[in-house]
This record gives sequence, structure tokens and C-alpha cells, in this order.
Amino acid sequence: MARPSLVWLRDDLRIADNPALHAAIERGGPIAVVYLLDEVSEGIRPLGGASKWWLHHSLHSLADSLATIGGRLVLRRGAALEVIPQIVDAIDAGFVTWNRRYGAAREVDAQLKTLMRNRGVEVASHQANLLHEPWTITTGAGEPYKVFTPFWRACLTAGEPRMPLAAPGRMESVDLTSDALNEWNLLPAHPDWAGGLRDAWEPGEAAAHDRLDHFATEIVQNYHRRDEPGIEATSLLSPRLRFGELSPFQVWHRLRANLPDGVRANAAKFLSEVGWREFNWNILFHFPDLATRNVRAEFDAFPWGEPSTEELDAWRTGNTGVPLVDAGMRELWQTGYMHNRVRMVTASFLIKNLLVDWRVGERWFWDTLVDADEASNPGNWQWVAGSGADAAPYFRIFNPALQQKKFDPNGTYVKRWVPSSELTTAPIVDLAESRRDALAAYEAMRHRV
Ligand code: FAD
Repeated sequence: MARPSLVWLRDDLRIADNPALHAAIERGGPIAVVYLLDEVSEGIRPLGGASKWWLHHSLHSLADSLATIGGRLVLRRGAALEVIPQIVDAIDAGFVTWNRRYGAAREVDAQLKTLMRNRGVEVASHQANLLHEPWTITTGAGEPYKVFTPFWRACLTAGEPRMPLAAPGRMESVDLTSDALNEWNLLPAHPDWAGGLRDAWEPGEAAAHDRLDHFATEIVQNYHRRDEPGIEATSLLSPRLRFGELSPFQVWHRLRANLPDGVRANAAKFLSEVGWREFNWNILFHFPDLATRNVRAEFDAFPWGEPSTEELDAWRTGNTGVPLVDAGMRELWQTGYMHNRVRMVTASFLIKNLLVDWRVGERWFWDTLVDADEASNPGNWQWVAGSGADAAPYFRIFNPALQQKKFDPNGTYVKRWVPSSELTTAPIVDLAESRRDALAAYEAMRHRV
């Protein structure tokens, strides 16, 4: 009989199209499926509050679906390089397997691989969470792409992504003790701020597939209106992809198959947005400190202001007096999500109108977004700041009033989040004056370097 296997799950909380789980089942023998809450290893960015909420429910759902095929989810907490070898010893595992990750914590995986192989344990890692491995998409000179359009073109010519794997029908499980999920205290208690999240979302693999189907059949035809926050035109799949309840391969093939002619252009545009996710992971792979360091080093000289507590609180709580900004920040606080166009506007307001360092806003989003991910969050914040890889050639400052006029002309979105009685509040900064200050600060930076 085959020795037991250990499947180490991370950002891949699914049983369908899970190559690591698939490999262990193919090999035969009992399997320990382990999720490790690791907040201490080198390169790990501990989750924010909203992400912890999502993780709790997604793990709950995963444990249920594993149980239906004879599996059992084992929860453990601690540093991977200590806990995984302990489990390997405890069950006398002959095989350890996982799906790859691409941030700084991949160094931990490399060390674990060596450690295991030195002990005679077989190890295999798999491509599961990106359509293209970052080291396979490079310029003619072998360099990473810094601009999205040629990056995506290279992805599209790199060959059709593989088909997703079906969910396994049956597996054998190892008897192993597990932490109790509730004891991890991932859910907020005092106060319980998660009511709006509960109303807005149902985490878990089954609900993720329902949403993907709904998007592919009902919503994608509206995708050309994706910039309008007041209507349902986007997929809302970001937390599903973030926690790996869905793989990008499943999303890709669902949006390529059997679509009526009129929908194809919308689907292609949607898939190119999934391409931005790939692009940001590509950048993070080559630039592991994306959340703390400007990709364009000249921005190190940018003269950020010292944010006042009042201004920062006004931004965080949606009380700036700028309707679109306030609507976005309230949507974020209540649901753990914000529409993409509004994310750009709220980020631009903080960075350009309040002259606050982008890292301050990035950390707030990290704590409050259910889809906060270590590539797309800092990648997009740097994009808005102008310090990122694919930054605009000029210093773009969004005008929130014009953005509202263009994308929420009837105020549908703003009214959903901000009561009309509050819409007359005066803005905390003068938009035109602060815009001039931002441009002056940009010029000052350019003259310093
Ligand atoms: P759709 O339009 O349906 O897009 C489909 C998928 O493509 C998304 O689910 C997402 O996985 C990906 N995607 C779309 N746009 C982008 C983009 N600009 N960058 C990277 N991936 C993209 N997205 C995150 O997933 N996590 C984050 O932490 C995050 N932080 C952001 C911070 C700022 C300041 C800004 C401006 C954008 C951020 N985004 C982030 C990107 C984008 O806002 C969300 O991916 C999108 O709003 C999710 O909604 P959706 O699933 O309905 O998107």
C-alpha cells in the first residue's frame, strides 16, 4: 500500500481543478489535506480583517465538500517549516504536494522542498493559480514585462491554458487531529462588524461556481458597461479567485465555451481583466516588496504630506464630502468590496488630493477588502499613484465630480450608499486647489531626481 500523502492547501480552497489534491489521489493511499494558518513565516503578509472573515467561511465550506468525498480537512497553525515536517513525521508521509504561490513566501516552499527531499520524501508542486507561470512570459530579451498590453499579447500567443480538472469522486483520509476552526478567532466578535459582509456574500466553492455560471449566462452581456458602479455588470469573482475557490482555468474555459456571438467581445474584455490579475502577480514575482517599495524609484523622492487624523478618518469612513468617494468608502466598509472604477477614484483622492502616501491607503484596503491580494492590491495602488510598473506617462488625477457625471450620471450608486441629507456636506479639501498642489509636488519630485 502507498505511504500516506500530505496535500498542503493555501490559496486554493477548492476540490475541483486542484492539481495537488488530484496528484495525491492518483498516487493512491490515505491523504492528509492540511490548511495551515501561518502568520509568522518569512514573506507572509498576515491577512486583514475582512479576508479573515472570508477565510473562516471558505474553510468551513471546504471541510464540508471534502467530507462528501471521504476526505477530512486538517487545520493547523504555525510556521510552515516547523509544522509541515511535524505532520510528515507523524503520518510517515511519502509524498508532499502543493499548488504554487508566487509572492515572497515562495522561498519557504523552496526550503521545504529541499528539506523534504533530503529526508527521502517525494515532493511535487503544481501550476494552479495562474494561467501562465511568471517565468514563462518574458520579453524577447528574457526580461519581465513592465507594460500590460504586450504582456497580455504574449500570454494570448503562449497557447491555450489547460482544461480544468474535474472534482474527485472519492478519496481516502488519514486520521489526524485538527484545530477547531472557531478557536482561530477569524471572525470579528466585539464588535461584530461583519453583518454587511454576511448579507453580501456566500463564501465557498459551490457558491463560487453558481456565481460564475450566473455571470457567464446573465451578466457578461453587460460587461461593456463595467465602469458603471450603479449596475451589475462585473463578475464579483475577485474574492473567489483570491482564495482559489475557483481557478483561473475554470474561469477562462467557462468564458470561452458556447458563447453567443454578441457576447464574445465582452467575454474577451473580461478575460483581459483576468489578465491584469496575472500581470500583477507577474510584477510581484519579480518585485516581491511591491507593497512597500515604489516600482519607479524616482517616487522615493515624492514629497508626501503628513496626513492629519481627521482627514484620514474622513476618507476611511466615507465622510470627505465628495459623494463618489464617500459612497465607495462606505461600500467597502459595509461589504468588503468596492467597484473597480470607484477604487481608482477613492485611491486617487487619498493620494493626489490629500497627498497621502499610497502605502497608507493600500494598508486600509488590505484590512477591509474581502479580495485583498498581495499582488493586485499594491499593484493597483502603485498604478494609481503613478509609481507602478505600467504607470500612466503623465500624472493622472481623477476628478471625482467628472467621474460621477460620466459613470453614475443618475446618482444610482451614490444614493445607494450615501443618504441624500449628507450629500450637501462641504468637501474636506478644495478639489481644484489640491489638484494644483499635487501637480506641484510631482514637479518637485521630478526636479529632485
Ligand atoms: P471583473 O471586472 O469581473 O474582473 C474579473 C477579474 O479580473 C476580477 O475578479 C479580478 O480577479 C481580475 N481583475 C479585474 N480588474 C483587475 C485589476 N485592475 N487588477 C487585478 N486584477 C483585476 N483586485 C483584487 O482582486 N484584489 C485587490 O486587492 C485589489 N485591490 C485594488 C486596489 C485598487 C486601488 C484598485 C484601483 C483596484 C484593485 N483591484 C483589486 C482590482 C479590481 O478593482 C478588482 O479586481 C475588481 O473590482 C473585482 O471585481 P470583479 O470581480 O467584479 O471584477
